[in-house]
Amino acid sequence: MFDLKQAIDDAQFVTFMTGAGVSTASGIPDYRSKGGLYSDLASPEEALSDENLRDHHEAFHDWVVKKMYYPDAKPNVIHEKMAAITNRKGAIVTQNVDGLHQKGGAKHVIEFHGNLYNIFCQKCGQHFDYQTYLKADVHAQDGGILRPGIVLYGEPINPDVVERAIAAISRADLLVVVGTSFQVYPFAGLIGYAKPGAVLAAVNREPIALPAGAHMVVGDAVAVFSKL
Ligand SMILES: [Zn+2]
Repeated sequence: MFDLKQAIDDAQFVTFMTGAGVSTASGIPDYRSKGGLYSDLASPEEALSDENLRDHHEAFHDWVVKKMYYPDAKPNVIHEKMAAITNRKGAIVTQNVDGLHQKGGAKHVIEFHGNLYNIFCQKCGQHFDYQTYLKADVHAQDGGILRPGIVLYGEPINPDVVERAIAAISRADLLVVVGTSFQVYPFAGLIGYAKPGAVLAAVNREPIALPAGAHMVVGDAVAVFSKL
């Protein structure tokens, strides 16, 4: 029987790979799941695409503001436990754009898909706080369109971020995938950079596809992390 706590204790360097399931307990709807963030839209790929931002910035802004911002969300026990573990000996590579790992105190976080609260003008590069963006998406001074620093459909991942993610994953002797169906690429493909002999595990409500020999912990991540 696989014991996650023991595996974490035994590991020299633990890297968590996290997804939306880590933030649902903080009140942020699960990306792509039924009843989740995008369930009332036929194609989230269209709403959150680089083309939509370029061609229909008002619609993009309206959608993002209504659906994605939960500024009052608080980190939960999963964020807190992961922070405590990785601040000592590890890192977190996350698909989440909500910033909750950092709010939970984690110091070694690689935000693979960026951060919703990083707002900048596409014309002049000036940064703004998200409250400004919630009100308007045009920089009055130069007419530039503001956007959040998240990776949209159609956009590549920042190569520096990819490099840092690979470094965190290839360094780990324990890799734990948490709260993700692990179907979004290139994120899911990062597991291919695990070093030979590394222990692989996943915690998710439903079993997910993992390399041979990996340990699947099926269950509620809040319950699992509460016991760590
Ligand atoms: Zn500007």
